[in-house]
Amino acid sequence: MVHIHPKRCYGQNFLVNKGAIERIVDVISGYGPSHVLEIGPGRGEITIPLSFRVPKITAVEIDPELSGILRDKIEDLKIENIHLVQGDFLAIDILPLTPKGTIVMGNLPYRVSTPILQRVEKVKDHLMRAVFMLQKEVAERISASPGSKAYGSLSVLIQYNARVRVLMRLKRGSFWPIPQVDSALVEIDYQRPYPIRVKNEELFRELVKGIFFYRRKTLLNSLRYLFGMDTDMATEILKDADIPPQVRPGELPIEAFIRLSERVRPTGSISMVRYFEQQGTKEE
Ligand code: SAM
Repeated sequence: MVHIHPKRCYGQNFLVNKGAIERIVDVISGYGPSHVLEIGPGRGEITIPLSFRVPKITAVEIDPELSGILRDKIEDLKIENIHLVQGDFLAIDILPLTPKGTIVMGNLPYRVSTPILQRVEKVKDHLMRAVFMLQKEVAERISASPGSKAYGSLSVLIQYNARVRVLMRLKRGSFWPIPQVDSALVEIDYQRPYPIRVKNEELFRELVKGIFFYRRKTLLNSLRYLFGMDTDMATEILKDADIPPQVRPGELPIEAFIRLSERVRPTGSISMVRYFEQQGTKEE
C-alpha cells in the first residue's frame, strides 16, 4: 500500500474495517443501480470492491495526491468501469453525473457533509437513493422522530423529501486515523418522499426553520413571534390545523408542519430567521 499522510482539511479518515466495507458494497450493489456516483473515493477502499459488483462508477476526489494514487491502482488492476474525476464535489456541475438510476454514495468528509447533503438533494429526482457514512450525531438528526432530542428542522426537511434509515453504526476505531466521533451509514430514499405534499415548499422550509429557531417556545408563542399575529389569531390557526397551542416544536410530526404551512402567509419575521441562520446563529 502506498504510504500517505492523511489531510485533516479534507476529512481523510479512511474506512479500514473490512466487514463494514463488504456490507456497504452488498447494500449498494443490492439496489441494482445502473450507475454509482461516489463522493471522496480516497484510495478506493470502497470504490474498487464495488466496481466488481456494479456496472459503472463515477468517483469525485478533491485531493490530487489521492486521485493520482487511485488512478494508478485502477490502471494496475485494469479496471475499466471507474471514471475518476479530480475536483471539488461542491463546485462541479453534478447534473451530468447523475443519470437516472444513479445511487450517490460516500464516506463523507464530516465537515462538509451538510452542504453535500443539500447539493445532492437538488438532483434528488434523478436518484435511486443516497447512501452516506455520516457522523453519528448528523445521522441521528436526519433520521430522528418527533419527541427525540435529535429531532429538529433538518429531520423534518429531509424526511419531507425522502425516507431516511440508519443501516449500520460504526465505532470510531473502524477508521484510520481514528476520528473524534462515531459514525453511521444512512440510506436516503428519495423515491419515498412524505406522502402529503405542500403547495408552497419555500414557505414550508422557512416555517419549519423558523419554528425550530424558537424551539423552546410553545407553538402559540412562536406563531406570534414569527408572524406578528395576536394571540386570538394564532390560537385560531392552530385550532384549524389541529395543533395544541402549548405544544413545542420537538413534538410536532411532519404532518402538523404541513397543515400549519397551508394556513399561514410569508412575513418579514421569517426572513429575519433566515438572516440569523446565514449569520450562523444557532437554534435557541
Ligand atoms: N472513501 C474513502 C474511505 O471510505 O475510506 C475515503 C473517505 S474520507 C472520510 C473522505 C474523502 O473525501 C477523502 O478522500 C477526501 O479527500 C475527499 N473529499 C473531501 N472533500 C471533498 C470534496 N469537496 N469533494 C470531493 N472529495 C472530497
